[in-house]
Amino acid sequence: MSVIYDRVALIGLGHIASSMCWGMKAAGVAGEVTGYARSSDTRNAAREIGLCDRVCDSAAAAVEGADLVVLCVPVGAMGAVAKEIAPHLKSGATVSDVGSVKRAVIDAVAPHLPEAVHFVPAHPLAGTEQSGPTSGFAELFHNRWCLLTPEAADRTATAKLRQFWEALGSNVDEMDADHHDLVLAVTSHAPHLIAYTMVGVADDLQRVTENEVIQFSATGFRDFTRIAASDPTMWRDVFLNNKDATLEILGRFTEELFALQRAIRQGDGDHLHDYFTRTRAIRRGIVEAGQDTAAPNFGRGGPE
Ligand code: NAP
Repeated sequence: MSVIYDRVALIGLGHIASSMCWGMKAAGVAGEVTGYARSSDTRNAAREIGLCDRVCDSAAAAVEGADLVVLCVPVGAMGAVAKEIAPHLKSGATVSDVGSVKRAVIDAVAPHLPEAVHFVPAHPLAGTEQSGPTSGFAELFHNRWCLLTPEAADRTATAKLRQFWEALGSNVDEMDADHHDLVLAVTSHAPHLIAYTMVGVADDLQRVTENEVIQFSATGFRDFTRIAASDPTMWRDVFLNNKDATLEILGRFTEELFALQRAIRQGDGDHLHDYFTRTRAIRRGIVEAGQDTAAPNFGRGGPE
């Protein structure tokens, strides 16, 4: 694979950034990779494992001369980081991000960026419940979708970023930012909230959780606990920044749940059977599309 960007800067050195680092190394798509994280602990951990070619002590130093700058911090921190790096960006550079929410990130980041840079927001639909610089692996993005929400961004810059994510193994598509947020509310954000809730309910039932939940954990609950182990800061920011779409989906979820509750109470087996038959078909569609749990995604950890 040939070099796509001479210099790539990653701001934030956690799970996604570290996976990008290893992915870039494996694919040979970046001449040099610089990185920055706010805490010296994270920077030192990154240095120890040789994560980037250079781990810098300031965001300004990391982005200096970079052709591609990717913001890999929690959604709620994107605006402040964009403001900090803006005066140091190279003219003609592409700025992107990996945030799980797109409209709020665009609104927070775009106003800070100089006109001479191209802003192409992105969201790789890949991740595990792990976080931090030592949790990444090059194959994370293989056969996973990466959604770009370029709005009015320069087409050449967008095409180059597409090529970059494809080189890391992703399937790439473009989407309107609001539509992205609604789709992700259904496929990722609401399911995470449900997992958090289910684990919280079990925890409230102290007499069950003391021993039995851990000892006899069935796959359904085990999957919930893995998802509910996802980073609290990341997920707090996702819900605060994708409020409308998440609330819309949770409203629909609650209505369906009540209907299933009524069917159970009334012994309406046909309703339950029909419902589960419909949902089983959705699962088959996901498997046929190659987006099943064998890949490092929801089943392996879940956050996106
Ligand atoms: P992570 O492993 O927790 O790493 C987060 C990084 O952001 C760390 O380097 C951290 O620095 C830095 N950071 C945290 N709060 C910050 C703040 N207020 N200001 C500046 N830097 C801050 O997170 P991640 O899983 O890589 O997630 C990063 C982004 O990717 C998020 O926007 C998330 O929505 C998105 N995303 C995540 C997944 C996933 O499954 N994990 C999937 C797709 C997209 P320190 O270590 O120095 O504290």
